Formats: sequence, structure tokens, C-alpha cells
Amino acid sequence: MEPSIENYIKNLVRDAILNLQFQNDRQTYVIANWKMNKTIAEASEFFQNLNGRQDVNIVVCPPAPLLYPIQLIIEQFKKPIGLGGQNVHWEEKGAYTGEISTEMLKDVGCEYAIIGHSERRQYFLEDDAAINGKVKKALKAGLIPILCVGETLEEKNLLQTEQVLSRQLFGALKDIETSQLIIAYEPVWAIGSGQSATADLAEQTHAYIRSVLERVLGKRAESISILYGGSVNGENAADYSRMPNIDGVLVGGASLNAASFDEIIDVFAKGEPNK
Ligand code: PEP
Repeated sequence: MEPSIENYIKNLVRDAILNLQFQNDRQTYVIANWKMNKTIAEASEFFQNLNGRQDVNIVVCPPAPLLYPIQLIIEQFKKPIGLGGQNVHWEEKGAYTGEISTEMLKDVGCEYAIIGHSERRQYFLEDDAAINGKVKKALKAGLIPILCVGETLEEKNLLQTEQVLSRQLFGALKDIETSQLIIAYEPVWAIGSGQSATADLAEQTHAYIRSVLERVLGKRAESISILYGGSVNGENAADYSRMPNIDGVLVGGASLNAASFDEIIDVFAKGEPNK
């Protein structure tokens, strides 16, 4: 065999093995974004009723005042659940009224932080540079960013989805070299609207997101979990779970009720229910 052909084949095999190794590192997540909902009593009732599972990563992101009470509640009920903030600031500390630092999140037991949710982009005018600062700060502090990206209905109708996602990903991941993060694809038109993206459309978009991640981070992109978010419920969750590039879901409305959140968890869990 000609040396150039031999090298070409060797490289193909090496890349395939590398891809498989990184794919095997990919975790499945079911993450709740409670937004501005629930009191301590309501959160306590939720966790009392939630079965939860060991065989899938469950994360709950409640409003900031509930983080510490929930940390105590999940310890008391011995629930295998991770805790995340819904936002975090890019500075260490200081005169930023109303903001929350990475240290504060870690102090109350958080391992994750949602960053760049479309509601924060829309209502609090967070841009790609601010989001990049937050992702960097979270990573430095050892928090796992759950970076949200997604196009608006107008952008979708103008066929700009890929352009928007590419801008958001390159912007948020500028000067970042690690793959220790989670991406959530949340089309803005699907959030809270009851109009979820079809599993086929979501899969196609996730594959595109992975190709952009590969341009930013190389082969390591294979190990990044990409979650779908936008009107996920117990009925449509199974469709997403069958897709190779959909590694779980970020759930708003349907995560507020323990029974409906459990239904989604059961879809993504691998083993038998631990009821
Ligand atoms: C969200 O806002 O992150 C979300 C996915 O909301 P919902 O599930 O209610 O569409």
C-alpha cells in the first residue's frame, strides 16, 4: 500500500476511535429550570413527591433564595439531585446590586449555573460578551455552565437559525478551551409556548451545534452534552431521547410538578425505575 494511502487510513481509524472515546464520556441530563416559581414549602412538597433516579443526572435550578433550603431538603430526603443557579455574575464580588457570584453559588452547594437563558438575553439585555464573561468565571470557579442558545421565531422565519447559533456559540465560548460544559438548545419560539420543536428538527440543529463546537474545541466537542429545551413534557420526551445528538432536556413548565418531571426523568433513565 502506498504510504500516503496508509497514513490516510490510519488517520481515519484514529479519528473514529477518538470520536468513540469522547462520545462515551457524554452524560445524559434532565434539568429543571424553575424560573421565578415556588416557595420553600412548595419546594419541600415537590422533593417529597419526586421519585428521582440514580441512572440519569438530575439537576434542579430554583430561584436563588431557594438554593440553600433545597440543598438541605435534598440532603434530608437523600435525593440524588444536583443543584444549579439560574444565573451568575462575571465578577468575583462587589457593587453589583441584585447579582450572585460563583462563590455564593458554590457556598450553597451548586455545581451548575444556567447562563445565557433567552429570558435573560431578552429582559436583562445580556449579550454574547457578558455571557462569555459568565461562562469563563463559572468554569474558573469549578461550576459547570449550562449555556443556553437558540433563535427567535423571527430569526427562524428568516432562515437565520444556523447563523444565530454560530454567533451565540462563538461569542459565548471565546477563549475557552475546555469541554466541561453543557449546551442547551432552546428555540425561543418553543419556550413556554406548547409548540416544541419536532425531534427531527431538534436533532438536525443539535448536529449543527456539535459541528460548531467542533470548530471551537476540536474533537473534544463529542463529549459535550447538548440538551433540548422548549415545551418538553412527559409525552414528547421519548421522541427526543431516541436522537443520537440529544443528550437530555432542560425543562421549564413541566419541571414544576413532581409527577410530570418524574415522567421525563424515567424516559431518559437507563435502568428500571427505583419506585
Ligand atoms: C426554559 O425556559 O428553559 C424552558 C425550557 O421552558 P419550557 O419547558 O416551559 O418551555
